[in-house]
Amino acid sequence: MLLSCRYLPPPVAVGRCASTIQAGVQQFVPASGSFDSSALEQLQAFISQASRLFVISGAGLSTESGIPDYRSEGVGLYARTNRRPMQHSEFVRSEKSRQRYWARNYVGWPQFSSHQPNSAHLALRDWEEKGKLHWLVTQNVDALHLKAGQQRLTELHGSTHRVVCLDCGELTLRAELQKRFTALNPGWEATACAVAPDGDVFLEEEQVLNFRVPACNACGGVLKPEVTFFGDVVKRNTVHFVHNKLAESDAVLVAGSSLQVFSGYRFLLAASERKLPIAIVNIGATRADHLTDIRVSARCGEVLPAIKLS
Ligand SMILES: [Zn+2]
Repeated sequence: MLLSCRYLPPPVAVGRCASTIQAGVQQFVPASGSFDSSALEQLQAFISQASRLFVISGAGLSTESGIPDYRSEGVGLYARTNRRPMQHSEFVRSEKSRQRYWARNYVGWPQFSSHQPNSAHLALRDWEEKGKLHWLVTQNVDALHLKAGQQRLTELHGSTHRVVCLDCGELTLRAELQKRFTALNPGWEATACAVAPDGDVFLEEEQVLNFRVPACNACGGVLKPEVTFFGDVVKRNTVHFVHNKLAESDAVLVAGSSLQVFSGYRFLLAASERKLPIAIVNIGATRADHLTDIRVSARCGEVLPAIKLS
């Protein structure tokens, strides 16, 4: 049985700065207009002076890899659709919601898991290799920093590439779960037309009714992506660990995040309290704009590789 998914309206046209991005990828990058060279010079001086740089990255870094964000004007998921991400409480409470979630996630996985790091991810890995970057915290769950080879990394909201059992806590690879889905659902097939930032796609209710969801191999418990869903909180140990990394750092760079979610924004508040210098590279306004004068409103994939390390 081949199922189709609902048509999604295309995103609005993007600005000229996105014109150099690979076709098919640019549709999720918001218009950035032009940025002045003095902002880039300020950023260059900022990076040159830092010796233990703390970077926090967000969805804006991955739009250039073809993964849409939630909030960008015109091109983000919220702007294009009335779909909203799964809430933690709903996933835990409702077996039907979990069935729907996993059916869509199963359909979206081949495309979502095939995304590759872009020049911004590679630049940050290069900064790590050259000893400039002390720690990278990402709010993204797409594993692109790991794919780029980043090691000094905390995935603040987890990763869609891992699965956790809500009962026994066992962690397994999402790729392995895909094989179990396929084995349990012979003949069940649907086509992904649009994939959300967490790998979700859009299927009608009747399409998921027959989809079978496996249980934990170890204990028979409920499986969930090892991702902090909306309405859930980041583990206290993880927050504490990141605060420690921030305390060891001497400057903070925000890369591709509007910092609208408090779990990331709190580290900017902490940096400000510590009087650490802050810089921001992001298309559009951020929640931390009042904390710094160094703001570059442009694509991370354009700006970060342009920075020279001394
Ligand atoms: Zn289990």
